[in-house]
Amino acid sequence: MTCRSFADLPILCSDLDNTLVDHSEAPEFTELRRLQRLLGNSSIFLVYNSGRSAHDIVSDLIHGNAKLRMPDLFIGKVGTEICSAPSLQPDTEWQNHLDSFGWNKERILGLLVDKFPTMERQRDDQDAPHWLGFTIQDAATAVAVRNALKKEGFGEDRVHVIHSHGKLLDIVPAGAGKGNALKFVLEREANRHGFACSTLAQRTLCCGDSGNDCLMMALDDVHGCVVGNADSDLLSWLEMQTASTKQRIIHYRGERGPRAVASALIRLGFIEDYKEHMRAKI
Ligand SMILES: [Mg+2]
Repeated sequence: MTCRSFADLPILCSDLDNTLVDHSEAPEFTELRRLQRLLGNSSIFLVYNSGRSAHDIVSDLIHGNAKLRMPDLFIGKVGTEICSAPSLQPDTEWQNHLDSFGWNKERILGLLVDKFPTMERQRDDQDAPHWLGFTIQDAATAVAVRNALKKEGFGEDRVHVIHSHGKLLDIVPAGAGKGNALKFVLEREANRHGFACSTLAQRTLCCGDSGNDCLMMALDDVHGCVVGNADSDLLSWLEMQTASTKQRIIHYRGERGPRAVASALIRLGFIEDYKEHMRAKI
């Protein structure tokens, strides 16, 4: 489904907001421009792995001020959608995989509207077949939603109820998530070429700034870049990891978003043209 094979390329799988795109450097996005020039001179398979939908990424970040380059693959909506680029064609194998967990968006929505009539839906969930988003007032509501769904047969083996940033509530199939979606893509590509998934994982760099980005970095054998402006959730998770995990997941202290990503790519030897980057640091 993808435009090119990534069987023999390094893979950059990055979160977008506050990782690849540091909104504090708008409207110039100087560091992002520098990183994109480095990427433009390299053969790297580029995957965006974001809480946004692929459509939102295109309209807001690729066609918007940030002028992000078109990736090779989109993983969107916190690992509930995989889309090819630039066609935005959904990956039906992934959709079927998520459905196999017993996901039923209409039924879940009906249950929640009945039991929690005042809970507000997040915008733009109409076009996301495997994601439901709400805004809530307190953590107790998240617990109540989880219990209500469980009573109706939607336990943790079928759906995940994710409470984040104090007020957001995402409900997704149990098999979804930024890490699971990336793993699905890597395993499928490895199977196609008849080699172990670890071979691809060792060539994969995952970058992020917030709690759910640990799901990508937690995959066996991948490299991790925790950007200098990462939030406390991700830093606390990193702190709890074993010494060997910390060797492959690096916190780039003092280097915000795109600069940290560039440093990680250089450190791993994924980009060869590092002179411009080094000059910029002086
Ligand atoms: Mg982020």
